[in-house]
Amino acid sequence: MRAEIITTGTELLLGEILNTNVQYLSRRLNSMGFDVLYHTTVGDNPERMQAVLEKAMERADIIITSGGLGPTRGDITKEMVMRVCHTESYLDLDTWGRIDAYFTKKGVDRPANNDKQAYVPLGAEILQNDVGTAPGLWLEYQGKLFILLPGPPSELVDVCEKQLWPRLLRRFADHGVILSRTLHLRGLGESLAAEKLDALIVAQSNPTIALYARYGEILLRLTAKAADEAQAKAMLDVCEQQVRQYVDEYIYGVDDATLAACLGQELLKQGKTIAFAESCSGGLASSLVTDVPGSSEYLLGSVVTYTNMAKNKLINVQQDTLNRYGAVSRESACEMAVGVRRLLGSDLGVSITGNAGPGASEGKPVGLVYIAVATEDVVYCQEHRFASTRTENKLRIALAAISMAIDKLKEEKKNKEA
Ligand code: AMP
Ligand code: MG
Repeated sequence: MRAEIITTGTELLLGEILNTNVQYLSRRLNSMGFDVLYHTTVGDNPERMQAVLEKAMERADIIITSGGLGPTRGDITKEMVMRVCHTESYLDLDTWGRIDAYFTKKGVDRPANNDKQAYVPLGAEILQNDVGTAPGLWLEYQGKLFILLPGPPSELVDVCEKQLWPRLLRRFADHGVILSRTLHLRGLGESLAAEKLDALIVAQSNPTIALYARYGEILLRLTAKAADEAQAKAMLDVCEQQVRQYVDEYIYGVDDATLAACLGQELLKQGKTIAFAESCSGGLASSLVTDVPGSSEYLLGSVVTYTNMAKNKLINVQQDTLNRYGAVSRESACEMAVGVRRLLGSDLGVSITGNAGPGASEGKPVGLVYIAVATEDVVYCQEHRFASTRTENKLRIALAAISMAIDKLKEEKKNKEA
């Protein structure tokens, strides 16, 4: 089944917003076994949108649009689809009532131009939108399926998850499924992982195994094509077992697993607590840790000690250390980790100090970072070099700190047991 995704909106062409809808739609469609063959983005221009829709009808079976269902004059997607499908619209009273209820619930007057959203193409089915006013639409015309989705990502996702995907799978139940599973590995490099799995990867065709590195971890994506979901799942189970024969000790999670969640599990398992002192990461490591539900069980708190003054006043990094070695130094990192551990009384104190770029400071190179982990009797420190943009460096740095904390927790436990 060939699918084409058409994202609409001049703001996308201007580069004002990131086209997240197309990524979400592609991922989900592929995972369900649909072949996404084209992505097209078109502005809010009637002639060009019509041309894009007509082109899609020539080369795709399923045409999914995002955006342009709003109440304003610039929102023309529905009108253009009706034009290429030679259909008219009618005022759908159910939808009208829903829109009315939406505004009543919000306690604001209903704008008159919202009536536009209650018009539904003849022959179309409605994909109810529970979080906004524009419903999604499903329209079949001359063997082609048009699916129209609202542009705001939260609405698009809500309509897809609740309405579209179940319906699409029912409608095309006989074309088979593609199921993926992602194994998350840590503690080994990409080339070593590739080496360990080479024979297996080369020999596999269904499921396929793809290996890639991302932010301090290795991801292995297994993808199976089968007649139905149960069969695909069974094939993935077998493949996962084969992979585990080679790299089991490095696998820390499956699918939506994160390093922060892995750290949380390890802390819970050991009944330990943690605190961060962050400089160049600006609190990002703590933020990632708090993305995990239940993190208050083990994260006691954190401080963002961005300046030397803060490092000194809040966590007692010695002025002399700062003067002599600079804030970006092994010595300062260690004092930060010890200081925050003492300040908050946690089992582990983790510190991050470095230069996220793009400008050098203290005469130290961009991307130079020290991460320290203080436990009751030892302070560990690692030097890292990161070479990305400032934003990406921050993420890599934060993840490296989380990763190091996991390592040290595990190592200490092992040493104690030995
Ligand atoms: P629209 O329905 O075209 O008026 O879009 C409403 C809003 O949804 C836009 O202002 C964007 O903020 C957002 N939006 C539209 N299309 C996309 C897209 N492809 N990816 C991410 N956000 C989008
Ligand atoms: Mg728009």
